[in-house]
This record gives sequence, structure tokens and C-alpha cells, in this order.
Amino acid sequence: MRDLKIPEQRHPEKAHRPDNAQPKKPSWIRVKAPGGKGYAETHKIMRDNKLTTVCEEAGCPNVGECWSQGHATMMIMGEVCTRACSFCNIATGKPPEDLDVFEPGRVADAVQKLGLNHVVITSVDRDDIKDGGAEHFAQTIRAVRHRSPKTTIEILTPDFIKCDASALEKVVDARPDVFNHNLETVPGLYPVVRAGARYFHSLRLLQRVKELDPSMFTKSGIMVGLGEDAQAVKQVMDDMRAADVDFLTIGQYLQPTPKHHAVDRFVTPEEFKTYEKAAYGKGFLMVSATPLTRSSYHAGDDFARLREARNKKLGLA
Ligand code: SF4
Repeated sequence: MRDLKIPEQRHPEKAHRPDNAQPKKPSWIRVKAPGGKGYAETHKIMRDNKLTTVCEEAGCPNVGECWSQGHATMMIMGEVCTRACSFCNIATGKPPEDLDVFEPGRVADAVQKLGLNHVVITSVDRDDIKDGGAEHFAQTIRAVRHRSPKTTIEILTPDFIKCDASALEKVVDARPDVFNHNLETVPGLYPVVRAGARYFHSLRLLQRVKELDPSMFTKSGIMVGLGEDAQAVKQVMDDMRAADVDFLTIGQYLQPTPKHHAVDRFVTPEEFKTYEKAAYGKGFLMVSATPLTRSSYHAGDDFARLREARNKKLGLA
């Protein structure tokens, strides 16, 4: 049994909204059904360590494939998010508890048991905490590094918008291998998709990571099919490159419930290819642009390719 503290009403702020019809998924959105030995083992390790995963909380379509290989993205700092983005299925509200000081140790234990070469760690937004959970992130990175020194660590962080500059510095000082912060959508859709965030703040956060540690890989992603047009997507690519972002992910938005932001359209695999080509042309070291791309999908293999691409660029490969 899960020992979660998710409120019964996952999205109280969305309850009054009219339903948006959920369109039928096209043939190219096909996923492996969860199950099998590897999946069960990953599930058991997550539950034994009382860990939450974004794979489950966000209803990720790739959970069957990823978990069968032990690739789970752990979500720290609780199961309740203080934001209420219209695309996201993480429960929203006032988190019922303070941060769990034992959580970094449990994450480190799970990473060791799963024998991961590369781990992705994300979190809910904790605007109720002064440093946004930055110190907790840093402790988790250090705990994983201590128990599994060969494992590369990728973090997917909140925007720390209510914190002073020291919050981001604490996380960068803990030296994750990849710092990911998703822009999620084009700036024109922020008021309806990511109302609690600011596009230029998020962009500046990514730029600041590179200024603090030029050797750290930076990564960011957007969803498409929310109502954006191709020109705005290409502008986001330019903005990211101006902030020196190395790795871009683009995936299809899927609507978790009828109360969430409506799917505007399903972007075709050919259009994803066009985005991929355009992004490489703009100088990203790595691009993953497919309908099922998610920030952490194939993150381990992609990290190896990312490192290789940088070495090649620097003439070291
Ligand atoms: S793509 Fe990421 S969030 Fe989805 S199942 Fe895989 S690891 Fe989890």
C-alpha cells in the first residue's frame, strides 16, 4: 500500500472549471502497458523506500517502458505542489508536512538498489519554504553522490521564483551533472498554462546556472499541442540558445483529465522531425523531439550522447 498524503481532491482549483473533451489519441501515441518483472522490482523499491515518482503522479505514458529498465524519476519534497499549472497532474494545495530530513538518504538507497548509471530527480514546487527546497535538493544530490559515486545525476528543478539568489547557488554548488529546468511552453501561453511562473525568470535561471558553472550541462523542455505555433517554438529555441542551454526536449502534451488544459492538436511525427532539425541548426548539443519525449525519457542514454557531443565540439573526442 502507498503511504501518501495526497488530498482526496487532487486539484481543488480546477474543480469548478468546465470539462474539456479529451480527443482520441492518434496511432503514433502508442505505449507499452506497465507490467513484468523489471517493472514490479522498480515498483517495490519505490514503495519500500516510501518514495514518490513523477512517473506515477504525472501519469506519464512511458512508465511501462522506463520502469521495466529500473528508470524511475523520483520526486522529492512531498506529493503536493504549491503551484497549479493547468497542464499538470501533480496534486495541488498546501503541502501537509515539512520536508522529510530522511528523504535524501532514502533516494540514495533506492538509486543504489536500482544500480542506476544515471538518475533523474525532480520535485514539487515548495513556495511555502524560504529557500524553495534548495538545501533539500543539494542534500539529496550529495547523498546520492556519496552512496553511488559513479552515478551521474540529473535534476529537474522548480524556478525558485520567490527565493533570493542563494537558493540556486546552493543547488549548483552540489554539482549535479545536468541541471534541467523546463520552460514548458511558449511565452504567450504562460498566463493560461503556467500562471504562477514567469518565462523570462525561468530563462534567466538557466542562464545563471551556466554563469555559475560553465561546465554544467543545462537542459530544458517544452510541450507542444497546447495551442502554440511553430514560429513561437522556434523563438523559444533561440531564447534557450541565448541562455546557453545545451539540451532541448520537445514532447506532445497529453491532457491528464477533462479539467486540465485542452489538447489543441496532436503534432505529427514529421513536425517533430522538423523541430529537431531546426534545433540542431540553432546549435543545441542534444535534441530529443518526439511525441513521447519527456524530460527524463531515455535520460541516461541521452546523457552519454550529450557528453560525447560536447567532447566532439571541444575537439576532445
Ligand atoms: S519518461 Fe520520465 S516520468 Fe515518464 S516514466 Fe520515464 S522516467 Fe518516469
